Amino acid sequence: MRRIAIYGGTFDPVHNGHVEVARQVRQLFELDEVIFVPACVPPHKRNANITSAFHRFAMLALATEVDQRLLASTAELDAPQLPYAVDTVARMKREDERLFFLIGSDSWAEIRTWYEWPRLLTMCDLIVVTRPGYEVDSHNGIDSIDIRGMDKSRVADLLIRETGPRVFLTDAALVAVSATKIRAAVQLGDRESLEAMVPPAVASYIEKYGLYKTE
Ligand code: ATP
Repeated sequence: MRRIAIYGGTFDPVHNGHVEVARQVRQLFELDEVIFVPACVPPHKRNANITSAFHRFAMLALATEVDQRLLASTAELDAPQLPYAVDTVARMKREDERLFFLIGSDSWAEIRTWYEWPRLLTMCDLIVVTRPGYEVDSHNGIDSIDIRGMDKSRVADLLIRETGPRVFLTDAALVAVSATKIRAAVQLGDRESLEAMVPPAVASYIEKYGLYKTE
């Protein structure tokens, strides 16, 4: 079976943390593809000032351009109404594929607020990636398996087990970057920091289109 991970988020903008997470998790879980799925306007950020989905998608396309196994999807942007993660997973699920949903530890901390989260967990495996500054809560009442420090072959064995939890906690990538920091750096005119936090083509795009200059 092909293994595909869906990586949902606002990606305003996509940054080196996202890309590194996707690369490391792809290797560790032997995924065929990691698909970045930018949200239209995420339900929990409806009042926030979010950059046009066209720009966010364009930056994802640039950030994933060099890696054939990292893709950007328009699935949520094309959806007739703002879809929740559970809708997107249902729509993207194929019989011949095993689906994983990829999130950071900050999203994991609030997963119980997600629309129909128990159903989401029945439809796909969840990969929770440690994020610097956020504790991974392995006891939030949802059965999970902590694979931090495990070698790849043990992870491979766990993945083919028929039974056991389908939520994997990993520290495969530890990158202390956030989109919030990037937007702040642009407002300060701190080009050096910007270039350290996003792929070069994304830094150029942000400058070219004058994104994030005002809050
Ligand atoms: P913001 O600072 O605007 O909240 P963000 O950097 O958290 O943005 P999102 O687009 O909200 O980026 O993140 C999408 C997904 O990626 C979420 O599940 C989030 O937890 C995860 N994520 C973001 N940055 C990292 C990181 N540095 N390490 C691990 N996971 C991350």
